[in-house]
Amino acid sequence: MDFSKSAAAYKEARLSMPGGVNSPVRSFPAVDLNPIYMDHGKGSKVYDLDGNEYIDYVLEWGPLILGHADERVLEFVKQTADKGFGFGAPHVLETQLAELVKNRVPSIEMIRMVNSGTEATMSAIRLARGYTGRDVILKFEGCYHGSSDSLLIKAGSGVATLGLPDSPGVPAQLAKDTLTVPYNDPESVAEVFKRFGQDIACVIVEPVGGNMGVVPPMPGFLESLRKITKEYGSLLIFDEVMTGFRVDYHCAQGYLGVIPDLTTLGKVIGGGLPVGAYGGKSEIMKMVAPEGPVYQAGTLSGNPLAMAAGYMTLSQLKPEDYTVFHEQAKILTEGFKAAASKYGIALSINQVGAMMSFFFTDQKVTDYKSAKSSDLDRFKTYFAAMIEQGISLPPSQFESVFLSTRHSMNDVEKTIDAAEHAFRKIAE
Ligand code: PLP
Repeated sequence: MDFSKSAAAYKEARLSMPGGVNSPVRSFPAVDLNPIYMDHGKGSKVYDLDGNEYIDYVLEWGPLILGHADERVLEFVKQTADKGFGFGAPHVLETQLAELVKNRVPSIEMIRMVNSGTEATMSAIRLARGYTGRDVILKFEGCYHGSSDSLLIKAGSGVATLGLPDSPGVPAQLAKDTLTVPYNDPESVAEVFKRFGQDIACVIVEPVGGNMGVVPPMPGFLESLRKITKEYGSLLIFDEVMTGFRVDYHCAQGYLGVIPDLTTLGKVIGGGLPVGAYGGKSEIMKMVAPEGPVYQAGTLSGNPLAMAAGYMTLSQLKPEDYTVFHEQAKILTEGFKAAASKYGIALSINQVGAMMSFFFTDQKVTDYKSAKSSDLDRFKTYFAAMIEQGISLPPSQFESVFLSTRHSMNDVEKTIDAAEHAFRKIAE
């Protein structure tokens, strides 16, 4: 495959932007390759500057659940844009998207739109602190909740990919108020609550881990968080930026039957445009300005074009789509398992709805520590072999593979064939 136009674009970009990118994982730091510059996408496919075609499992890191450039979303965004890009005044599309989300997400009675997942979690944390009058937050190792100061402690995603410890620039004073324990470890949570419970404003958790690779919650884990937060008067926040409308029509909380106090959303809710949101019980949300004293604002929040993309995307999704995701993910899982065992490659697979990770380890992956047992050299070989065969994957072991409603059985079969070839290369 020829990547010369991508290589030239990257060289030029590095002169103007740190690492040539506006978000670290896009620079392919973990796979020793130059990033690929995409030019356009349609349905399940993306096309790079050099004209190479890929079946895409990145999907803009999750948002494009209807695939690239969905006609209905595109048409609605165009119609909305024809009337102006934004007004800095309330717009009915904000209410329409809010009502749609409320009807679908069990915990959400009121919602505030923001511009990214980072803004959503940062604001939800401030609200939890304001509501409880406490400062300490509890998060889980390997969970990523965006790049705000309080949440960038023992984080997953790009931080895990780059192998960074906690980021310089986060004040020690602030880091001190962020406690972390292993995912799927209710005993550690109970110990921390025993010592600091009266000071804990909230527990924030990805209800299905997605940023250390996909890690499902063990039976009883989320229930134990629900119970202990209630007992100590702390809030439970589900960060559904990744899982929201991806794991299930009613998000992970609907699928798993545990209802948090607050929920953060991003990715799919914007249909590919910049949208995040936080919402929950009215009693708590009424603390947000202008109704209450917890301040949070945004010039572009609720932007009509972004609301249009989110509204049309969520409107098109049907409960049956998630059955197809489950079926396709199962076929991929079985196919990858068979191909790996053919070449004696240890592969541990986690899958929940339209989220999947293939870990190169013989350990069952249940937390960040077990995710880190993966053989990253094998991942590199696998990733490069898949790219060469026209399969675009997230360039890190610690990320999730995503499906869209536009992925066909043909795409799935091609991907399994490519994986078999990649595993043969690893075994060579
Ligand atoms: N929370 C989770 C669970 C995420 O996966 C992400 C991003 O991947 C974020 C928060 C941050 O969202 P954004 O990148 O839109 O700021």
